[in-house]
Parts: sequence; C-alpha cells; structure tokens
Amino acid sequence: MVVGIPASPGLATGVARIIGRVPVPNQRGRDIDPAGTVERALDAVSTELTQLADRLRSEGHNDEAEIVAVGALIANDPVLRSQARDAAAGGGDAAGALLSVSEAHASVIESLGDATLKERAIDIRQVGRKAATFATGSHLATPATNGERLVLVAEELGPADIIGLQSNSVAAGVASRGGASSHAAIVARSLGIPLVLGVDRSILEVEDGTTLIVDGDAAKVTIHPSDQEIRHVMTAMDVAAKRVELLAQERSLPSATVDELQIALLCNVATPEEARGGFQSGAQGVGLLRTELPFLESVQWPTEHDHRRVLDPIFEQLVGQLVTVRVLDFGGDKLPPFLSDLAGDLRDLPRRGLPALLDTPDALSAQLRAILKAGARSRLRIMLPMVTSLRELAHARLLFQEAVNNVGVEAPALGIMIEVPSAALLADAFAQEVDFFSIGSNDLTQHVLGLNRRDAGSQPALAAHPSILTLIARVVRAGHAADISVGVCGEAAGDPLVLPLIIGSGIGSISVGVARLDEVRARVRRLSAEVCRDLFRQAVHAKSVDDVWDLVRAEALPSIL
Ligand code: PEP
Ligand code: MG
Repeated sequence: MVVGIPASPGLATGVARIIGRVPVPNQRGRDIDPAGTVERALDAVSTELTQLADRLRSEGHNDEAEIVAVGALIANDPVLRSQARDAAAGGGDAAGALLSVSEAHASVIESLGDATLKERAIDIRQVGRKAATFATGSHLATPATNGERLVLVAEELGPADIIGLQSNSVAAGVASRGGASSHAAIVARSLGIPLVLGVDRSILEVEDGTTLIVDGDAAKVTIHPSDQEIRHVMTAMDVAAKRVELLAQERSLPSATVDELQIALLCNVATPEEARGGFQSGAQGVGLLRTELPFLESVQWPTEHDHRRVLDPIFEQLVGQLVTVRVLDFGGDKLPPFLSDLAGDLRDLPRRGLPALLDTPDALSAQLRAILKAGARSRLRIMLPMVTSLRELAHARLLFQEAVNNVGVEAPALGIMIEVPSAALLADAFAQEVDFFSIGSNDLTQHVLGLNRRDAGSQPALAAHPSILTLIARVVRAGHAADISVGVCGEAAGDPLVLPLIIGSGIGSISVGVARLDEVRARVRRLSAEVCRDLFRQAVHAKSVDDVWDLVRAEALPSIL
C-alpha cells in the first residue's frame, strides 16, 4: 500500500493504466524532422480515435462511434497529410503546419455553405488541433479499455486529463505530484472521481493492468489487493452510494441554516454535462463557469467562434438561469500549449487571469462578444479573474462596454474575483466599481500563505487561516457597505472545516463542484448561523489555522448521515 494526500474523496477499484507523454519531439524550432512529426502526430490521432470508436461500438453507442470514426478518417486523409508534411518541411514547425493546413481545408469546405459540410469543417479543425497538441508533445495518451474500469496513474495529472477522460471507464486517479488545490483535484471532485496525489514515485512502476484500490478519503492506494480487501471495498462503495442517494433526497429542501438564514447554493461548471448535473442536484445557478478548461489543449487564443462552440451547448442547459461566466484564466496549472512555449520549464505565466488577457485585448473582446451572444437567454453575469488594480478593471470595463455595444444587448452585471491579496486589500475601492464580488479562496490562500497550490501541502481547508479570514471579513464589509453581493466560489466553500466560517462571515452565496452540492446543502441545513457568526469572531483572532480547525470541530461540525 502507498499513501499520498487526499485530493478527491471516494473509494474505487480498477486496473492501473500508466499514462505518459506521447514520444513525439516537442521542441519547436529544434525539431530536426518536422515532416516526420506531422506523420506521427496524425498517426497518433488516428489510432486514438479508432480505439475510442471501437470501444463506443462495443458498448452499443453506434452513433457516437460513427462521429468519432470520422475524425480518424480525416487524420488519414492523404491530401491533408502531404500538404501538412510539405508545409512542415518548409517552415520547420510541425504544429503550425498542422494548424494552417487543417484551417485551409476547413475554410474551403465551410465556404460551400452546406450545413453538413459545415460540421465536417469543425471536425477537420478539431483533428488539426488535436494533432498539433501531439506534435508539441502536450497531449497525454488516452487509455484504451476493454470494459474494465481504469485507475489512471501518472506523474502529474492536469485538469484536461480528467475532463478528457471522464467516462464510465475511469474509476479513479493517482499521481505522484500535485496537491488538493490543483485544478486536476478540483475537476475530479466536481465529477466525483476519487483522486490521491503525492504518492511515492514507485507507483509509476506498477504494471499496466495491476488491480488497485484507491481510497480518496484516507489517501491510500492498495496495490494487488486480496479478494477480501476487494469485497470490503465493494461493500463500502455500496454504503457510499446509499449515502449519496439519501443526501439527494434533501434536494428539494431549502439551502438554509437551522435558524433560517438562506445561503444561495450555486455550482461550478465547465461542461454541458456539469451544467445539467448542477440543476438536477438543485443548484440555484452557476456561480463559476470556468471558460479556460475546454481550451487547455488549444494552440492559439480561442476565437469568438471557438468560444461559441464551447459555450452554446452549456448555455442550452441554462436558459433562464443565473450564470456567472468567468473570462479566460490561463496560467499556473492551466496552461495551453501556446502559452507553455512562452513559459518554458517554469510552467507558470508571468501574468495570469485578467492581467494576461489585457495583454491580448482582442482575445478578451472576442470572448466577451461570444459570452454576450451565447448567454442572451440566461441571467448572465460576467466575472473577471485575478484582478489586482483599478486600472485593470477600468481597461476591462472599456472592452466590456465596447462588446455590449457591438452585440447590441443590455449590459449584464460585471463582477470581479477576489483572489489576490491586492484585490482584498482594495475591496472598498473595487466595491464602488463592480456589481458583485466572488472570493476565489484557492488562489487567495496560496498567495496569502506563500504556497503553490500544486504543492502537496496546499489544501482548501487552509482558507480557515486567521489571515485569510481577516481578508474575508474586510471584503464582506466592503461589499455590504456598497450593497453588492459577495460569494465564495473557491473550494473552501465545500470544505466542512471552512463552510461554517464562510457562513459566519456574512457571505450570502457559495458555489461548489457539482458532485459536492448535496453534501454541502446537507451541512448548511445542520448549522446554526448564530453559532457560525460567533465562531468567525473567535477564529479571526486565533493563533493558527490548527486552532481554528479545533474550534470548528468543537462547535460546528455536524455529523451528516
Ligand atoms: C479560486 O482561485 O478560488 C477559483 C475559484 O479560481 P480557480 O480555482 O479556477 O483558479
Ligand atoms: Mg483562481
């Protein structure tokens, strides 16, 4: 057995699938055989899509299999291949060649005006993008499966790996690097996939197909479990499934404390499935739509058209609902290939979120137009990430107003995330300029405590640190004085040790991953707002985060089911 850190709760068993980077040269400019890289990248796309289509067919999903198989055909198209090879040999850049040649093919087909061919143009662009990510070596191999449930094992899992591999075939994830505040962990929690990170690297040496048990609560991975251990896990999984069912029975009950303080319960989403799941689980709206997650394998800034392709199916699930859309927040562990090249080995953008977007204002304007159009039938709010100064906000508001005029709609609410200390400290001034605040406890915690959220020591419960609570108190005061709403959309909102403090601080809305909604509602319903307020007053003056956790454990940790 190996032990790591708990990143996403739950218990699962399955067979190990070690995933790693596809061995394709990835140093752009130093690729000595760009034409060969083009061939290998298109081969990799073709193999991946053919395997996926075979699996879908064997599971009876014939329509889906046919759609996927079209991509494999495109990747094998001899004309596209030879043009991309020639372009790569001429320009020395395999990824660039794949993108430009696929774009040229797609444009020709699109210009014919036929609706079916238009769809095909989208497929061609997707194949081009996918191949380009293989060519830059930034794509993780998708595991094939013959019906067994898989436990993904990797040195480091990114959010795109978890999203890209979400299907019934993936039971759990294990990685030797990463922490509970990483985006991979956030996505896994949202999808209800158990995840253990920070385990010893020896896990990478287990053979593909080895049976594993992953315990996301105890952060343990059992290698080659005995029959008895497997039986025990199966029983525990049944019990957990029953608990989930019982919690779901409270969905129609209000999200309010025992003394009837209403806490709006919203959800964090990035896909149409999550949006649908959120509403099935009784969310009162979307508190955070993370728009960058679908573009983590993108090789260029998404265009307005790219955004619409992603946003339209999400908004289809959200007609008439409150939807808070955050503009692109690339950086840290959310770095697409076209920005990784800039960041080199550090894998951190010098600037993140809004500051990075303002360096490329056309990209922001394109996204704002797409959001305004896609969200026309919802109660839209637009949210800016990683804001640090009033000047940035003013610049963003200018582009926002331009986009509103251009699209010809009424301006939706514009708010900011409070997730760097600068924004929290200037909350009084920001409150005069925006319509709402949403506290991003994930980033706020790392910046205030000097941690990296990908580190093993970083975890959502650290938001209970007296320093963070002091900032939260300041933000809530500023928001209330200016009569704007203040919510939390970081993972702390779903953490049992922080939730009572958030309620005690006077925050009126929380937004959590879809798989956490029922549990969080059940907790809210068993807490007393009065006790929470008293707790918050004491916690702000505590000497350490451990002291705060002890206070919460003693006074506001109800047992639920
Ligand atoms: C946060 O920082 O708390 C947040 C919600 O943003 P993200 O996790 O996407 O960085
Ligand atoms: Mg953040």
